[in-house]
Amino acid sequence: MSTFSFQSLNLRAEIGGNSYSLNLDGTSILLDAGMHPKEDGLNALPHYQQVPFDSADAIIISHSHLDHIGTLPVAQREQPSAPVYLTAPCAALGEALLHNSVNVMSSQREELGITEYPLYHHREIDYLRDRWMIRPYEKAFLLDPLGETETTVTFYDAGHILGSAGVLIEKNNRQIFYTGDVNFQGHSLIKGARFPQLNEPDLLIMETTRGADERPTNYTRADQEKLLAKGIRNALEAGGSALIPVFAIGKTQEVLTMIDNFKSEGLIPDQTPVFIGGLSTKMTVIYDSFSDSTRRHRPNFEILRDMKVQTGNKRRRAPIEYKPGAIYCLSSGMMSEKTTSNIFARSFLQNPANSLLFVGYAEPTTPAGAIKKASSGDVIRLDGTHKVQLNCAVEEFDFSGHARREELLEFAVQARPKKILLVHGDPDAVSWFKPKLAEALPETEVITPQPKVKIHF
Ligand SMILES: [Zn+2]
Ligand SMILES: [Zn+2]
Repeated sequence: MSTFSFQSLNLRAEIGGNSYSLNLDGTSILLDAGMHPKEDGLNALPHYQQVPFDSADAIIISHSHLDHIGTLPVAQREQPSAPVYLTAPCAALGEALLHNSVNVMSSQREELGITEYPLYHHREIDYLRDRWMIRPYEKAFLLDPLGETETTVTFYDAGHILGSAGVLIEKNNRQIFYTGDVNFQGHSLIKGARFPQLNEPDLLIMETTRGADERPTNYTRADQEKLLAKGIRNALEAGGSALIPVFAIGKTQEVLTMIDNFKSEGLIPDQTPVFIGGLSTKMTVIYDSFSDSTRRHRPNFEILRDMKVQTGNKRRRAPIEYKPGAIYCLSSGMMSEKTTSNIFARSFLQNPANSLLFVGYAEPTTPAGAIKKASSGDVIRLDGTHKVQLNCAVEEFDFSGHARREELLEFAVQARPKKILLVHGDPDAVSWFKPKLAEALPETEVITPQPKVKIHF
């Protein structure tokens, strides 16, 4: 009798820190090793202790966002023999992200007194990096080449960020597919997902991020791009500047490519200076280094070289200075305390000629979340000591990096899996999928995996 099981190591069934344990007839795999973005200290970790020490045969990372890779060094410490499989861009971005995360955790230890931080150290990342195994897209590899049984894994481009992958795992004629975070449409720089044609896999582990997100039927990305160009133009014509707070990985490069397109289409003046800052610069260098080896709309376009983007003052910690007539794409996307976009906002928000343009999601509790809810003239608290009156224009645009719920539903219906696990979604997102899947796939068992509960398949 073969035994196949799945166990969620997440703190709760929600969008949080992602990690899942698979046991395929004796082959133990850890899928993703995320950090919870809203929890602190040891609570930010998945339940790694559910998997016996040094028992895993492999760790597989779908992509290099913090909620999927942010605690990989801790997972590797728990599973010292397990090689880590990931794509080359995922490794490059992930390594930079983990080092940055050590710095963030170290300052949180000092300022917030979180004594468990940092959860890992720079030297540990360098040491553990030796066990990372780079694998290409669409080429099956053996997980346990010396083992008795054969488990093969294939990465498929997930179109979500550079290096993101959906993961197909096969053993004893059984198939498991994990979507990771997926974007079927792609965006200005990166092409959309290229997933395999699945035929009744045993298990489909599917993200559900936008399940509660009812997008107007006449939405088009091209319209949103035009509106963003108009938002930038309005600020420039008013004698101000535009600030676009962006996530360092993905959104920064997507927005910069859009700005380059706007310039060549004549939507904004060609000479408008563009500044980036914070972690974005490092991540853009990595995006550029893969410009000719990944699927994209403009194959040889290198952002830093071709756009002559200004990266602010090179001296560490020197703040980027405000000038009128410019575009600032600064991380973090949620304008969290101590980040470049937050510090820059001190000298930006009170000027009515400026425009603050949001292109992504912000937690309601973050400064960006507070600004989205505020009215003109309100006083915004940026951190413990800085308060600024909000006089600039504020606009929001919809450029989600995740698939629309209807697209995910269609993907699942075409695959006809025996079991579907709905992950990476808040409860209202998951509950949109359940009746829809039950109707379209009456034979399929649809499950929202609860933390630590083993599901056999
Ligand atoms: Zn992601
Ligand atoms: Zn995610």
